[in-house]
Amino acid sequence: MLSIQLSDRVKNLPPYLFAAIDKMKQAALAKGIDLIDLSIGDPDIPTPAHIVEAMKRAVENPAHHRYPSYEGMLSYREAVAGWYKKRFNVSLNPKTEVLSLIGSKEGIGHIPLAFINPGDVVLVPSPGYPVYPVGTLFAAGESYIMPLKEENEFLPDFKIIPEGVLKKAKLMFLNYPNNPTSATADAGFYKEAISLAKKYNIIICHDAAYSEVYYDNERPISFLEMEGANDVGIEFHSLSKTYNMTGWRIGFAAGNKDVIAGLGKIKSNLDSGVFQAIQEAAIAAFNTDDSILSDIRKTYQDRRDALYNGLKSLGFHLIKPKATFYLWAKAPSGFDSSSFVAHLLNKAGVLITPGNGFGAPGEGYVRFALTAPVEKIKETVERIKSVISVSG
Ligand SMILES: *Cc1c(COP(=O)(O)O)cnc(C)c1O
Repeated sequence: MLSIQLSDRVKNLPPYLFAAIDKMKQAALAKGIDLIDLSIGDPDIPTPAHIVEAMKRAVENPAHHRYPSYEGMLSYREAVAGWYKKRFNVSLNPKTEVLSLIGSKEGIGHIPLAFINPGDVVLVPSPGYPVYPVGTLFAAGESYIMPLKEENEFLPDFKIIPEGVLKKAKLMFLNYPNNPTSATADAGFYKEAISLAKKYNIIICHDAAYSEVYYDNERPISFLEMEGANDVGIEFHSLSKTYNMTGWRIGFAAGNKDVIAGLGKIKSNLDSGVFQAIQEAAIAAFNTDDSILSDIRKTYQDRRDALYNGLKSLGFHLIKPKATFYLWAKAPSGFDSSSFVAHLLNKAGVLITPGNGFGAPGEGYVRFALTAPVEKIKETVERIKSVISVSG
C-alpha cells in the first residue's frame, strides 16, 4: 500500500471559500429549505444568442478540431486589441501584447510561477479574489496583505507598506471594479500605483473582470489608459462577466510585452490554448451590439436598486455599488460575518457569502451577489426583514 501524502503546498491551502459554502448549501437543500442563493458570482442570464450561433458555426470547422496556437489565434488577439482601442482608446500590439487565457482565473493563478522565486513578496489586496494568494503560495512566494478599508474607499494605502516589504516585492495584484467590495478606482489611484511600481520594480497585475458591469452610465477606466502603465504591468480580462460566458472559459491578458511573454512561457509548458471555436465565439462577443450590453446593465441596476433600497430601509450599513454585481454590507450588530450568513441561511433560506472568506480584513461584512431576478431580490429583503432587527 502506498502512503499517499499531499504536498506541503496543497496542505497549506486555506479551505476554498466556495467549497465550504457549497457544503452549507447542500445541507440546507437536504433539509428541504426553499433557498434563494445570492452567494456566487455567476451570472444567471444566458450568453447572448449571436455568440452561441457563432460557436455553432465554428464547431463544424475541422480546422478548429486541431491544437490551437498557444498564444491564441491572431484574429482573436486582434479582436482584443480592437476592443481595447474602441473601449479605452488604448493601442496594443496583438502579436506581443495580448495573450489568450482559459478564463482570466487561469492567468491570475499562473502568473506568479513566471516571476516569483521562493520568498519573493507579492502584494495582495484583501478582502479579495482568493486566487491571488493561492497562486502566490503555489509559486512559494509570500503574500503581503494590503487591507482594503472602508475609510480608504477600499483602496490599499501604499504609504503604510514598510520599505523592506516594498524592496522584496516583485508583483502586485489590484482589482477594480472590485470583487467583493464593489469599489472603483480613479486615475489618481492608478498613477500612484504606477509610480510605486517604477520606484520599487514591481509588476502590476490589474484584474479588470468587472470593467463592463457598471451603473448610472459611469464607465470604469482601464489601468492601461494611464501613462506608463504598459511599462510596469498588465491587465487581466475576461469575457465571463461582460457577456455572461463564465462556462465557456475564455479571457486574456494585455499589456507589457515582457510580462505577457513570461506568462506565455508558463502556459506553453502547461496547457495547449483555448479551443478555437470558443475563440471564434469570443470574436463575435466583442462585436456585441451596445443595446444588448445596456440591457444586461439595466437588469443588474434594477436588482441593485431593489436590494440597496430594501436593505437600507431595514437599517443596514451598505456600500452602494457603482460597478460589479455585488453588494457589500456590514453584518448587523451582534453578528460577525459567519454567524450572520448562518443565521440568514437557517432562518430565512437566503444564502450569501461571509466577508471574511475573502480574507481577514473582510470580517464583519457580507457579500450579496445580484445574480437572481428582481422578484427574488425583493423576496430576499422581505425574508431578511422577518428574521432580523437592525439598529445601525
Ligand atoms: C470572476 C472573476 C474572475 C475570473 O473569471 P474567469 O471566468 O476565470 O475569466 C477574475 N477575477 C475576479 C475578481 C472575478 O470575480
